[in-house]
Amino acid sequence: MSAHTELVSRLRAAWLSGKTRPMEYRVAQLEALGRFLDEKKQDILDATALDMGKPPFEVELSEISICRSELNHTLNNLGTWMKDKHVEKNWATQLDSAFIRKDPYGVVLIIGPWNYPINLLLVPLIGAIAAGNCVVMKPSEISRNVERLVAETLPRYLDKDCFAVVTAGTEETTRLLENKFDYIFFTGSPSVGRIVMTAAAKHLTPVTLELGGKNPCYVSDTCNVQNVARRVAWGRFFNAGQTCVAPDYVLCSLEMQEKLLVALREAITEFYGPNPQESPDFARIVGDKHFQRVQALLRSGRVAIGGQTDAQTRYIAPTVLVDVQQDDPVMQEEIFGPILPILTVTSLDDAIAFINARERPLAIYVFSSCKKVVNQVLEKTSSGGFCANDTIMHMTLTSLPFGGIGQSGLGHYHGHYSFDTFSHPRATLLRGAGREALNTPRYPPYAPRRLPLLRATTETKRRAACTLL
Ligand code: NAD
Repeated sequence: MSAHTELVSRLRAAWLSGKTRPMEYRVAQLEALGRFLDEKKQDILDATALDMGKPPFEVELSEISICRSELNHTLNNLGTWMKDKHVEKNWATQLDSAFIRKDPYGVVLIIGPWNYPINLLLVPLIGAIAAGNCVVMKPSEISRNVERLVAETLPRYLDKDCFAVVTAGTEETTRLLENKFDYIFFTGSPSVGRIVMTAAAKHLTPVTLELGGKNPCYVSDTCNVQNVARRVAWGRFFNAGQTCVAPDYVLCSLEMQEKLLVALREAITEFYGPNPQESPDFARIVGDKHFQRVQALLRSGRVAIGGQTDAQTRYIAPTVLVDVQQDDPVMQEEIFGPILPILTVTSLDDAIAFINARERPLAIYVFSSCKKVVNQVLEKTSSGGFCANDTIMHMTLTSLPFGGIGQSGLGHYHGHYSFDTFSHPRATLLRGAGREALNTPRYPPYAPRRLPLLRATTETKRRAACTLL
């Protein structure tokens, strides 16, 4: 038996023992996770700085505070979420109890990416623990300092019978995926998402796939250009553009492009100073291979702002590209770096057609002071999430589901959506053992004269249409 198979069997045995089911157990593990965040905060700041020069402010906001918020929201609501949900009954079951039991799946595998290596491992973990599962976590090997920190320290806080961290590159993850898990939660690229889903299909294991893609950002002619520039620049250049919900490209009119360029230049200077390379608030690309890929995208169109690079420190300046064509390399893949191409469109309809001609994105952004424009984009397009007049901020709400659609993912999480994702809604009917005479009409030999009675007691009737007097 391989070490992975042994681990999964050990965790499944712990899960079957019922250890993870009581609310007190779940709360204790979640509180322990909170202590990990408090006590290892400096280590998290250090590790993310080593991996990709993440500014501490950005780590506090996007890694620690988001986990803390998710943890608090879960602890505040867990008692309510765990309750059986009683449902409507038909006449045949009036004397019985019918409810949905939020059942844990069992042993869950969580595979995380490198760009927000704490957030994207721990936020799903919070949901999985809250729902009463055992969990194997597989952090990304690319953010290797965080991987080491998580592997060495997180297990000290959690119950080792039920939670484990596996460090693995591609080959070993492939072998890990050969095991039967009861749920797989994957965050990463669409291409690896397909590999994970194929492996899960062998065991008919349900999956959530949190994937990426190109998020369009439409800027209409009616807006405050300075505000737009600051909000777009913040979303695009946060974490040096290595954010799944970052605005990937801007669509606007030629006139707006000219105004936006001036405002973007101002915003970039205001945020990062005259030389962003010297700014402590601007991150670096995670690895050499990633640096080369992003650097090559600078050859699309014309550099209007930025464009400087330094391979040694994996620095790519906040960059804006113009004169970009639809078939340029920068428009063929998710940029995942600090580059913002602007493409011009002739009208709102043209922008909507452009968006709908491509894969459905994780997020769509629209900037306009006209509600009609915002509503048109909302109604005529499809995406995982939508945010008007800002970028990224929709995902700070634990009350909203977070996830993609089509190429950008399958399923969603955050807040009670995480709890639901990691719970099986078990349909439960508790009937009395007696009163057998009431069941007789449904048994063979069938008597057609009993059918109307059976239909009357089990069939749902169409409600009468409401007529306004
Ligand atoms: P990735 O797909 O390369 O890797 C993600 C995880 O999968 C890592 O843990 C990695 O070790 C593992 N992996 C890689 N190759 C594998 C294989 N062949 N078999 C099994 N596992 C394998 O993604 P990444 O580069 O870490 O992250 C960037 C991508 O993730 C981008 O596309 C981004 O948009 C997406 N992303 C999505 C979200 C979201 O919430 N939707 C969040 C962050 C990142």
